[in-house]
Amino acid sequence: MRRPVRRVAIVGAGPAGSALAFYLGRAGLRVALYDRKSRPPIVVGESLIPATIPFLRELGIEDEVRRYSTLKNGATFVLDSDEVRSFRFADVRKARTRYAYNVPRDLFDASLAKVAERSGAQIVRQTAKLERVPGSDRVTLSAESLAACEDFLGGPPDLIVEAGGRARLLPNLLDLPSEAGRRKDTALFAHCGGVPQIVEGDVHIDRLERGWSWRIPLPGKMSVGLVIDGDVIKKFGESSAEQYDNYLQHDPVIARWGSAPRRLTPVLKFSAYQLVTTRAVGDGWVLLGDSFGFVDPVFSSGLLLAFDSAKRLSTALLSGGGPVSLRAYENHVRSHLRVWHRTIEHFYNGRFFTLFRVGQAVQTTTPGRLVNFHLQKHIPRVITGEGSTSRYSAWLVDFMCRRGLLENDPVALAIR
Ligand SMILES: Cc1cc2nc3c(=O)[nH]c(=O)nc-3n(C[C@H](O)[C@H](O)[C@H](O)COP(=O)(O)OP(=O)(O)OC[C@H]3O[C@@H](n4cnc5c(N)ncnc54)[C@H](O)[C@@H]3O)c2cc1C
Repeated sequence: MRRPVRRVAIVGAGPAGSALAFYLGRAGLRVALYDRKSRPPIVVGESLIPATIPFLRELGIEDEVRRYSTLKNGATFVLDSDEVRSFRFADVRKARTRYAYNVPRDLFDASLAKVAERSGAQIVRQTAKLERVPGSDRVTLSAESLAACEDFLGGPPDLIVEAGGRARLLPNLLDLPSEAGRRKDTALFAHCGGVPQIVEGDVHIDRLERGWSWRIPLPGKMSVGLVIDGDVIKKFGESSAEQYDNYLQHDPVIARWGSAPRRLTPVLKFSAYQLVTTRAVGDGWVLLGDSFGFVDPVFSSGLLLAFDSAKRLSTALLSGGGPVSLRAYENHVRSHLRVWHRTIEHFYNGRFFTLFRVGQAVQTTTPGRLVNFHLQKHIPRVITGEGSTSRYSAWLVDFMCRRGLLENDPVALAIR
């Protein structure tokens, strides 16, 4: 008979890996969490949505996070020079949580690793190395990596969880195929000073001449990201820094911010990030977080997916980690990723905000008001993450974006 999983090695102490280590450590499993020492100067994934807050409470870090973060009460979308839409989380009907935070990721990740450690997990401060067992789709820790955790675990791990993020260590090692999304954007990101906000604390999404930008207010500075077609942004310079600085100067929408962003950090570049691995569970290994799949930066779904999938995986492992429970974990995460993927597509093709325009236009009739009332319960709940695992809410967003636009052409609000 198969032994239940008791000893787990988790590669990567990002939000997904640390949260899993907390859940498993708390339940008494032996957990080694590999935390690579070197980090980039700044890390993406700074804007949370309300559905992440119950996870912060469960992890016991909300008070600590509040102290070093900015309070985020909503999202402001600059769709055109004369169309700005601000969503208040407090206005979402039947919302369970009415706020979120924008977090400096260095401090946030440190808080998470600390609670993982307090729960009993051992932090192994080194880069884990994985090796493929020849002729199979099994992986092991290299001798050096195993030596760092074997005493604590009391033997080799029963399971390796790869939570190394976009490094995609295990999918690369095993040549696991991935499904790539349709977008071929490049995201460039830095922290800046002198960047204004329309609504304090909100994440700001601006529809640019080409692509879109984010403004995420952090204490004393602003995270500014540009998400632009890879071929277009290349024309703005050789290096990432040139492309970023030149595009910020070039775009007429950014010119309307009123003051030029003053860059405070190097520029980080991301491309080909819309990837979902087609297989997330194998013989002695599981993928978690971005290593399993990531959809897109818009709507800030990444950290919710990281926490939600860590919790699901812990439930599967605490029930013994058998194939049925691991399959249920994989199916859940895959369908959650699909919901975000479909919703995000409707941001890019212009349907999402066209639907809001239509909603306002039909407010003058009683049937229109009734439909709108119903939609306003479900659609914002998908965006706050509280409804992104509800089949009905997710279906309704997709259905209305496809069929509910009446005669309106969504191209006018598409991302160019
Ligand atoms: C451009 C962009 C913008 C984004 N903006 C947002 C946002 O605003 N809000 C949001 O919610 N999400 C956002 N995301 C997504 C978010 O960053 C990720 O979904 C989230 O960080 C995933 O967490 P993770 O733990 O899976 O991976 P990560 O956060 O990447 O953590 C993985 C960790 O593993 C470590 N690691 C890697 N290899 C090894 C190894 N061999 N040994 C030891 N450690 C290792 C890494 O150093 C890292 O610390 C964005 C993503 C992109 C690309």
